[in-house]
Amino acid sequence: MEYVMVDGRTLDRSAAKVDIEDRGYQFGDGVYEVIRVYNGKMFTGMEHLKRLKESAEKIQMKLPYSPEELLARMEELILKNEVDTGTVYMQFTRGISPRNHVFPGENVATTFVAYTRKVPRSVEPMEKGVCAILDEDIRWLRCDIKSLNLLGNLLSKQRAAEANCFEAILHRGETVTEGSHSNISIVKDGVIITHQADNHILNGITRQKMLEICRNESIPFEERAFSLDELSSADEVFSSGTTVEVMPVVEVAGRPVGNGRPGSVTRQLQALFKAEIERQCGQI
Ligand code: PLP
Repeated sequence: MEYVMVDGRTLDRSAAKVDIEDRGYQFGDGVYEVIRVYNGKMFTGMEHLKRLKESAEKIQMKLPYSPEELLARMEELILKNEVDTGTVYMQFTRGISPRNHVFPGENVATTFVAYTRKVPRSVEPMEKGVCAILDEDIRWLRCDIKSLNLLGNLLSKQRAAEANCFEAILHRGETVTEGSHSNISIVKDGVIITHQADNHILNGITRQKMLEICRNESIPFEERAFSLDELSSADEVFSSGTTVEVMPVVEVAGRPVGNGRPGSVTRQLQALFKAEIERQCGQI
C-alpha cells in the first residue's frame, strides 16, 4: 500500500483523484517542492517549505498550512510509506473552479497533494561525471518561482535525454542561466562562478547550501552571470540540485570540460556536501 496526502487526508494512492477543473491540471496554476530524504529524514526540509511559501506568495496564493505544519505532515507520510532514501513531492494549486483565467474568489480552497518516492543516490554518475547539451532558455521571466509550469524545462530536458545527456545547460543569448532541472556553476582558476539569484533562475536550496559551505570553508565564489565563452573555457562545470546533489559535468555540447574528468573543486564540494547531509541525516 502506498499512501498519499490529498488536502487534509492520507489515503491509498489508488483512491486519490484530481478534478478535471483543478487549476493545476488545467493551467499549471500552482507551486511545488521536492525534498530529499536520507535515512527517513528530510534534508533542508524547512528551507524547501519556506521557499514553497514564498513561491505561493509570488503568485498571490495563500497556503492553508504553515511550513512547520507541513513539515510535520511530510514526516508522517515518510514514516507511513517507510521511505529510507527517497524524495517527498508536494504541490498546491489554486483549487477547483469553472475554467476562467481570472483567479477564483477567496472561498475556493487550494488543492494540496503530496506523495513520496523511494530513490537511491546516483553514486556512479556523481563519481564519473555526466554530459550536458546547450539549449536556448525559452522560459518565462519568473524562473525564481517554483511553479507547476515546466514546459520550457521539459522541452530542454527531453532534448538532453535524446542526446543521451543528463542535463541541458540553458542560455539566454550569450548568458548561461541554469540547467533544465538544476543550477549550473563553473570553476575558473579555483573560483566558483554561479548565476546570481534573480528572476532568471530558481535559487536552488542545494545552491544556497553549497554557497554556505563555501563561505564557511573559505572557498572563493562569485554570484554573477557568466557567458557561453566562459562556460567553454571553464576548468570545471557542475550541476546542483535536490536529487542530484553536486554532479560533475565532464562534457558540454560534445566537448570535454578541462581534462574530461571531475575536477578537484567539484570533488571537494561533493565531499563537503555529503558531510553536511550526514551531519543532518546520519551516514549515507
Ligand atoms: N533549477 C531548476 C530549473 C530546477 O528544477 C531545480 C530543481 O528542481 C533546481 C534549479 C535546483 O533546486 P534545488 O537545489 O532546490 O533542488
